[in-house]
Amino acid sequence: MARIALIEDDVEIRRLVADALSKEGHDVESADRAMEGLQLAVKGSPELILMDLGLPDLDGEELLRMIRAVSSVPVIVITARDEDHSIVQTLDAGADDYLVKPFSVAQLEARVRAILRRSAGDQVPDTVEVGELRINVAAREASLEEATLDLSPKEFDLLRVLAERAGEVVSKRELLAEVWREPYGGSDRTIDVHLSWLRNKLGESAQEPRYIQTVHGVGVKLVDPSE
Ligand code: CA
Repeated sequence: MARIALIEDDVEIRRLVADALSKEGHDVESADRAMEGLQLAVKGSPELILMDLGLPDLDGEELLRMIRAVSSVPVIVITARDEDHSIVQTLDAGADDYLVKPFSVAQLEARVRAILRRSAGDQVPDTVEVGELRINVAAREASLEEATLDLSPKEFDLLRVLAERAGEVVSKRELLAEVWREPYGGSDRTIDVHLSWLRNKLGESAQEPRYIQTVHGVGVKLVDPSE
């Protein structure tokens, strides 16, 4: 449970996000303007801020810089494809993570959980296990049946993202956003190639999958093959 400030001018999205986070037990305060949001950020002492970049009264990136000038609270920015902000620029301006519209409630909750977990420090185990797969997120090490896997940085990130959402179908677009940080570009082909390398290292293939299952037309999911 956390105090979360939500700055978003789109009524629908604001309601959707506020409802989803309240259901998770968070205490959500929202604002639909940047200046009102800044007040919330300063006076409400939130533990997390979710803010839209396309706000009516002030450029979201400006707002982010203003928040950063006074607070180190984790910030997740919400961006739309048609808003002309590069993700790199936004992260440079001090965002901790981002969500690209349209996003699912599951995605939103996963990002919020991850950020709150990170800011909670080291009480949370940083190892994810799925079947005989062990992924040490902090050390960036992975093993299968006790044998260390020799993964490239991208392969590791691919495996980590899938493992953190084990059992859930992750779309290629989400993988591009998470692993390549390129929600606006990149190609499915890049993912297919890396997935095939990763499968190889896990001793499986698309034809004979074990951990990495393709859900045609939707994406891929990581499963425990013994279940
Ligand atoms: Ca907006």
